[in-house]
Amino acid sequence: MRGYLKNSKALTLFLVLILCSSSLTGCFSSEEVLPEKYGIPGGLVLACLNSSQFNEIIIEVDYESDQKPRPETLEMLVDRISSVCEKQSVTYELFLTDFEHEGKWTNEEIRLVGRETRDADAMNGNQLRFHFMFPSGKHTNENVLGVAVDASTVMIFVDNIKESENLIQRPSWENIEASVTVHELGHLLGLVNLVYQSNVDHEDPDHPGHSSNDQSVMYWAIETSDVSNILFGTLPNEFDSDDLSDLSNLKNSQIQAFDQLWYPEEYLY
Ligand SMILES: [Zn+2]
Repeated sequence: MRGYLKNSKALTLFLVLILCSSSLTGCFSSEEVLPEKYGIPGGLVLACLNSSQFNEIIIEVDYESDQKPRPETLEMLVDRISSVCEKQSVTYELFLTDFEHEGKWTNEEIRLVGRETRDADAMNGNQLRFHFMFPSGKHTNENVLGVAVDASTVMIFVDNIKESENLIQRPSWENIEASVTVHELGHLLGLVNLVYQSNVDHEDPDHPGHSSNDQSVMYWAIETSDVSNILFGTLPNEFDSDDLSDLSNLKNSQIQAFDQLWYPEEYLY
């Protein structure tokens, strides 16, 4: 009898321990708190084009001192998004930020610092949030004026843009800044062929992910420091008809979008 009681107590204790540990697992395990997925450039194009969940876009602009983007550049960014994505509002928020970063930027550092400094997740309730950073310093590849590193994160190198101006300032650094910023937005929208295969042959075979048309803002040279030697005079800052047709086909499910962080309900593909 004694022995039985002892065993029973031990069993009770054992059960209590199991219950505790399983409830602790439920509260704190990594499976319970799903990590934000960051995706690849283009991974939120359907979230942008379709308004069923995200009816607002907020562009978070984090800049270091002396690197603040021009208001004209930001207005153009808002305008280009509004012209392709169906939203009730497209706005930007400016934050003076210290990225606490020394030396040149690698893509991996850009991803990490982007995650540390962003105000909220890319998919935040009914808001879709793109994150554009304007730091001091350069990319490890000094030809790079701007880069998109995941589905919502862009970095623009304003110091390098200013140095890229040619002697007669045609194009001016102000125009380069605007074109580079819209170009990186284009990558967030999946241009060209980043998350889909266009039904029109307009991707430059020598520069994957870019347009073969030098009148498109998605032309490869836009984001390189040679831009003012390659494209003399006025720079394109708009998507061309093939870029716009790709976005329209993605929106209407005429072509399939891959690698999306979000799909509309009843997505046909
Ligand atoms: Zn590019």
